[in-house]
Amino acid sequence: MICLGIESTAHTFGAGIVSKKGKIFSDVRDMYLTQEGGMIPNEVAEHHKEVKEEVIRKVIEQSKVKKIDLIAYSRGPGIGPCLHVGLNKAKELAEDLGVPLIGVNHAISHLTSGLLYTKAKNPVMLYLSGANTQIIALEGGKYRIFGETEDIGLGNALDKLARGLGLGFPGGPKIEQLAKKGKWIELPYSVKGMDVTFSGIITRVLDLYKKGEKKENICYSVQETCFSMITEVTERALAHLNKKEVLLIGGVAANKRLTRMIEKMCEGRKAKSYAVPLKYAGDNGVQIAWQGLLESGRVEKKADVRPYERIDEITVDFL
Ligand code: AMP
Ligand code: MG
Repeated sequence: MICLGIESTAHTFGAGIVSKKGKIFSDVRDMYLTQEGGMIPNEVAEHHKEVKEEVIRKVIEQSKVKKIDLIAYSRGPGIGPCLHVGLNKAKELAEDLGVPLIGVNHAISHLTSGLLYTKAKNPVMLYLSGANTQIIALEGGKYRIFGETEDIGLGNALDKLARGLGLGFPGGPKIEQLAKKGKWIELPYSVKGMDVTFSGIITRVLDLYKKGEKKENICYSVQETCFSMITEVTERALAHLNKKEVLLIGGVAANKRLTRMIEKMCEGRKAKSYAVPLKYAGDNGVQIAWQGLLESGRVEKKADVRPYERIDEITVDFL
């Protein structure tokens, strides 16, 4: 069975073609970019409308597959107008090809595709993207969130810091480089039970910056502090759930200092740590196609979008 998946939740309009055995035939993406400023929903949706035909044409052409058996699309969570562009294109394709159509949850597809790309079987998942900071594990038939940020995601916190320091976007890689030359300064350490907060830390260091503190010291200390907080909560989740694997997912997982901290913590617990390959860390159609294949036994009653769907609303009976 071969599935074409369409991703359109946020900045990226992407499509991927994958087989049930996990072979990736093609992966085409077009990302909405700005010189300055963030994402304006209708502008992003316009972008997706402009590029969708080309992305779909390329993904089919590059795949060289003779037959597609299923169409999957991202039903949410995401930006409403963007989700509709994906849904409409998916409907049209399914009708043209005369094949079933299935809507899947975008966040779940990040997790399950993480299992496809790595050898992790039943890990504690650390989902660290721009907007998300969640510690997740499969328990009792659902992906449950054991810890999360109470304010902004770790990636967004790093991006906000970078903006304040005049480093540009994305901030994470630039902060990682500067941190190598920095020295320790004491910062607030903000873990509350299994949850974390980052806003206060960023406000504090931007204030220190105004008072003359060096960028390098700020970057080093923010990394050490925020990554320690994440590592502490992840270790507690491992112990509590009695699991032996950690899987890092999302753009922040590109950070070498963070992966090293998680690895060290895992060594101490005789656990293993994995990370999604960089190539697949960002939003793409492959993850949607793979999730579609996992759920291919299900018949979609009504194809729709669900901009606010959380992963713990979904029964995981497809793994
Ligand atoms: P995503 O939302 O999963 O596409 O991830 C994007 C986020 O990852 C942005 O907030 C980036 O600043 C962050 N990021 C990318 N590379 C790194 C890095 N080397 N260290 C820390 N954060 C990073
Ligand atoms: Mg995503």
